[in-house]
Amino acid sequence: MTSPRTVPETTSKRNLFGLSRPQLGQFFADLGEKPFRASQVIQWIHRHGVTRFDDMTNLGKGLRERLKETACITPPKVLTRQHSQDGTRKWLIQVGPENQGIETVYIPTKNRGTLCVSSQVGCALDCQFCSTAQLGFSRNLGSDEIIAQLWLAWKELGLNVADFHGKKAISNIVLMGMGEPLLNLDNVISAVSIMQDDLAYGLAKKRITLSTAGHVPGIYRLRELSDISLAVSLHAPNDQIRNQIMPINRKYPVEELLDACQAFISGQKQRHVTFEYVMLDGINDSDECAHELVKRLSGMASKVNLIPFNPFPGTRFKCSPEHRIQSFQRILMSRNIMTMTRRTRGDDIDAACGQLVGKHTGRRNHRHVRTAPEATVL
Ligand code: SAH
Repeated sequence: MTSPRTVPETTSKRNLFGLSRPQLGQFFADLGEKPFRASQVIQWIHRHGVTRFDDMTNLGKGLRERLKETACITPPKVLTRQHSQDGTRKWLIQVGPENQGIETVYIPTKNRGTLCVSSQVGCALDCQFCSTAQLGFSRNLGSDEIIAQLWLAWKELGLNVADFHGKKAISNIVLMGMGEPLLNLDNVISAVSIMQDDLAYGLAKKRITLSTAGHVPGIYRLRELSDISLAVSLHAPNDQIRNQIMPINRKYPVEELLDACQAFISGQKQRHVTFEYVMLDGINDSDECAHELVKRLSGMASKVNLIPFNPFPGTRFKCSPEHRIQSFQRILMSRNIMTMTRRTRGDDIDAACGQLVGKHTGRRNHRHVRTAPEATVL
């Protein structure tokens, strides 16, 4: 006999989907089970993509029944899929009511597959050249919603992590989607621990990059909590320009930001910071800016990624002309700063740096391109 319920049965069940190995260990300890159950279940979920306890064949029948009563494995759903002719893909993932979503982009190249992951719904930082900023901030993503982007991407590619040894279809993660990851650091770190877990995705630290608009206390905290790589959206060599285009600079000016970057890599030989620099016509793209940037970065182990500005409706900015970008790059390279310019990808689908807006509707007028995080030298 079934009793009448006003809430779905699953709401009282613990969702194991986004739990890290220690968190799963605690869950099983509370059930009176041995810790190795956490190792088994995390492999089922993240290496094999399994969400039904009945498919977890190395768990006894009794335990499977108990799990079905008390827990569930429920990832979020994909709302829309877009597939570029060049292999770039974009998914809109439902994380809220109706048409609210976050966007995740997969960019395959010859040597790697990079997944661009979102950390918040919207963004609070109001960078002037970014259309995500126009949405304002809605909320932080949970660690389950962050790791779900990787889990769903593997599924959507029709692949299992378990089938890959060495070279992986998704080999790199960049936390460069919607949101400021350092303002949601605890959840980002929990998700990153699953990305790095050998029983889950087993990604090496240098293959995971967190990009920040320059939240200085967050950079120091990240250094304490994790060993992943750091990218900083610098976009200007001085406070005068940076204040105009990135309001966060008024709180954490360039000098403090660069001190934090230096501290992030200090004492760790192989480490460097990647600086992103969006090329805005007539704003930050002069030879003088390039020379000033060289001075600012002198003595720091760094790389620079020049990003051609991706325009969006209503923006007052224009992308720098090609010869400007080349001149800027030449100046940096001539002073031994390794500098790349991101290659344009996926111009036939709705995805681009700074243009992720996570809306199910109203996007048809957008015409823009994506630039690949892994970059090519001009
Ligand atoms: N909040 C983080 C990560 C998200 S943005 C950060 O600021 O780093 C990812 C990158 O895209 C950042 O370097 C950002 O400055 C850049 N970006 C934003 N809008 C852009 C646009 N319209 N064209 C090109 N790059 C853009």
